[in-house]
Amino acid sequence: MQSFIPPKRTLMGPGPSDISPQVLQALSRPTIGHLDPLFIKMMDEVKELLKYAFQTKNDFTIAVSAPGSAGMETCFVNLVEEGEKVLVCRNGVFGERMRQNVERCGGIPIIIDDKWGEPVSLDKVAQALEENPDISVVAFVHAETSTGVLSDAKAIAQIARQYNCLTIVDAVTSLGGVPLLVDEWQLDAVYSGSQKCLSCTPGLSPVTFSDKAVAKMKSRSSVVQSWFLDQSLVLGYWSGEGKRSYHHTAPVNSLYALHESLLMLKHEGIEQAWQRHADYHQELKQGLEALGIKFIVDEEYRLPQLNAVYIPVGISDTQVREQLLEEYNLEIGAGLGELAGKAWRIGLMGYAAKKENVALCLKALSDVLK
Ligand SMILES: *Cc1c(COP(=O)(O)O)cnc(C)c1O
Repeated sequence: MQSFIPPKRTLMGPGPSDISPQVLQALSRPTIGHLDPLFIKMMDEVKELLKYAFQTKNDFTIAVSAPGSAGMETCFVNLVEEGEKVLVCRNGVFGERMRQNVERCGGIPIIIDDKWGEPVSLDKVAQALEENPDISVVAFVHAETSTGVLSDAKAIAQIARQYNCLTIVDAVTSLGGVPLLVDEWQLDAVYSGSQKCLSCTPGLSPVTFSDKAVAKMKSRSSVVQSWFLDQSLVLGYWSGEGKRSYHHTAPVNSLYALHESLLMLKHEGIEQAWQRHADYHQELKQGLEALGIKFIVDEEYRLPQLNAVYIPVGISDTQVREQLLEEYNLEIGAGLGELAGKAWRIGLMGYAAKKENVALCLKALSDVLK
């Protein structure tokens, strides 16, 4: 066996996305102790930078030391207790995972379904909350990566508040790619991932809790069943000026990389980053349509960072994706769940949302489809 030297791919799938050389360089800097005063100072900056990315002042804003799925689980295990009713809005793969999380916490999921490729219906949310006055949490996916749909997080959260419910929001794909205003929209528990529009290495999950979510967590009547994800324990590590206690060994180098990618976002400006995703989406869209490729989602709800399109009739899904990978070193995503074999998911996430990538993708697809 020899050292593993990966090829240089262009990553235009549902994540991980392309990573800038600057972030990769940060990752390879010398490892220092995770309780080293300099490392703790850097963690404080990561918190500040995450607050900027989430557009929040929430004190409880950290990166969970595990991928987006662990951020999801963090929200559910800390905020849902046995017997609690949770409204789960399901319009793709990740909404279904939320339901499974509720059940594993001993909660009772109340489900509303919307068609794959459509956003969460506000009317259904209101109706379900009207019919089930004992629901205490509303969970939904802001940007459904399985279908390329954006739901109206602000409006869902507003309805949830009218019924005294907290919100758990999956912002794994939305953070950094489309407007996400945690404070202005009054979202309560929001989780994301490092490897989508933040263009960092996979394995970290930014999470932010509002004061209301923290209060609910603190007033639990039962102990959180997961030791690792129990945020009342983790907090002793991520906060507490000068007197941090060991909880687990932080992924030191991954946090350097996250710091760097968040710094790049801050330097670009978050509004500019949103605009860049929108602009290159337009460019990609025009090119795809010129090739006769059709989008799954109505323009109004379309995610710029995840372009879900129908595979043209008579074209082999796997053959095209294999050829793109082998001949162009280009990765695009396959369809998930109901859309497996029927769709491609072309990501324009973070550092991957740029002119060269759009051009490469259009050229490669047009060659291969011929
Ligand atoms: C990718 C993704 C996740 C899971 O994140 P992992 O880092 O793969 O665990 C959850 N929700 C959505 C919407 C995603 O796109």
